[in-house]
Formats: sequence, structure tokens, C-alpha cells
Amino acid sequence: MINGMKTGRIIRSLSGYYDIQLPSGDIQRTRARGEFRKSKQKPLVGDFVDFESENDEGFIWAIHERENFLVRPPIANIDIAVIVTAAKEPDFAPNLLDRQLVALEAANVRPLIYFSKMDLLEKSEHEKINHVANYYQSIGYDVIFSDSKSAFEALKMMLKDHVSVFMGQTGAGKSTLLNHLSPQLGLETGEVSKALSRGKHTTRQVTLIEVDEALIADTPGFSSYEVFDFPVEELDDYFPEFVEKRQDCRFRGCLHLNEPGCAIKEAVAVGTITQSRYNSYKAFYELIKAQKPKYKTDN
Ligand code: ZN
Repeated sequence: MINGMKTGRIIRSLSGYYDIQLPSGDIQRTRARGEFRKSKQKPLVGDFVDFESENDEGFIWAIHERENFLVRPPIANIDIAVIVTAAKEPDFAPNLLDRQLVALEAANVRPLIYFSKMDLLEKSEHEKINHVANYYQSIGYDVIFSDSKSAFEALKMMLKDHVSVFMGQTGAGKSTLLNHLSPQLGLETGEVSKALSRGKHTTRQVTLIEVDEALIADTPGFSSYEVFDFPVEELDDYFPEFVEKRQDCRFRGCLHLNEPGCAIKEAVAVGTITQSRYNSYKAFYELIKAQKPKYKTDN
């Protein structure tokens, strides 16, 4: 241990400098040693690090082991990813939700599904979304509906003492929700910064913003779910209800496509697994098969 070594969490990085929050809440600025660049291990926002800092000069000496991380946005040790999903306008898209869920499962990040725009639904549509939400809850996901009186408080309770990121397609109301949590977040993630970051080669840096007792990432872009970066044989690992049933498949390594005695297909036939989830599985299977092999170059 070097004299004066401290441990904290990186909450922001800019032009080679890192702002690190100490357990006391104090924020100190420092740099990363050149060795990190050589070893291709770069400190990320969210990382816990050992560092020195004296008058904003000093170095990060070590990065603690990560619980998880995302590439786009670049952030580590995320406790919760809030998937803001429109119940209407645009219409609820199960394939997109499943895509986000699978990406988060693969990254070992806990999802929270937030159904926005619930107030736009007719009664019959309401029942349909309820039905969908019940299924996702039954396979282990937390769900919050935007129209319940306690929704906002429930969300804040879930985020308390945690680091969270928000994802959501255009029009899902992500910016509105973030703005409601903190005007500072709404500003950072709004249309203006989206326009500014468009066309830039590098991903805009993330900042963790303290809101009440939560740390929330401000990030205009979220594309970690656009490409699946794992072999197709792993796909069923990321469907929790498949994991529960697949040991009953006749063949070990069953891909749940055309194999006889497939417990997943039987579950779909009797309705314990929804057709919609199975359709997503098949679509993602085809997608991964068609993807060009991707070689990891960053982090
Ligand atoms: Zn099977």
C-alpha cells in the first residue's frame, strides 16, 4: 500500500481525467497510469479503484474486479438497468423488450421493466399489457406501470443506494422519466445531447449523477442490445424460463428448434411459455447465426 492510497468509485471521466467519489461523498480528480492503456484495461465510470490524488494530481493504481459492465454505454458495476417500454405510441414491441432483456442477462445486469404511457391505453389494451406484464413477473422480472399512483415512488425506492442505467427506444419516454427524477438528468439525456453525439465516432462519456440516494447514469445512447456478442449455444441461458425447463429436453444441448422431445416446445404448446417469447428466441437464434463473428477489441 502506497502512503495516501484511497479507494473510491469513478463517477465521471473526461479527457484522461477521472473524478472519483470517496465513501465520504468527496470527489477527487486523478489520472490513470499509462500501463492501463498498454494492458487494454481502461478504467470505466462505475469502477471501484485504488488511487492517489493531491491537488487533483495523481494516479489510479488498481481497478477492482467488476460485477459487470456494458460497452455502449461504457459503464461498470451496474445494479439495475431500467428498460423504459412504451405500452402504446409506439405500440408495445415484445421483440425489442426481449432483446434488451437478453442483452442484460448476458451482461449479468438486473433488468427492471418500466411500462410508460399506460394512461394512453383503452380498457381492453390495459388488460393485454397486464397479461404480458404478469408473464414477465412470473419469470422473475420486476415490473412498474407508469399509471399507478405509487409508480414513481416505487421506482425511486428500487433505485435507492444503487447504480442504474436507463434504456428505451425513441418515443418510449425515457427522457421524460429521467427529467422527472432530476432536471439535471433530463438535460443531459435530452434531444440536444442526442443531436450533438450523432455522427461522432466515439461514444460519449457517461456521468453518474446523484439523485436523492441513487446514482443514475446519464447517457443519451444505449446500443449494447443491438448486437449479441455470445455464441448461439448460450442463447437459452438468457431466457430464465427456458433454463428452468430445458433439463427435460430429450437431448442434451437441445437448441429447441426441430429436435424431438423438446420440453421448451412442449411448454409453448401448452402455454406455460408464451409464443411471443419463443418467437423472440427463434428470431435471435437466426440473428446470431447471421452475424459476422465479432472480435473483441475494446475492454
Ligand atoms: Zn429443447
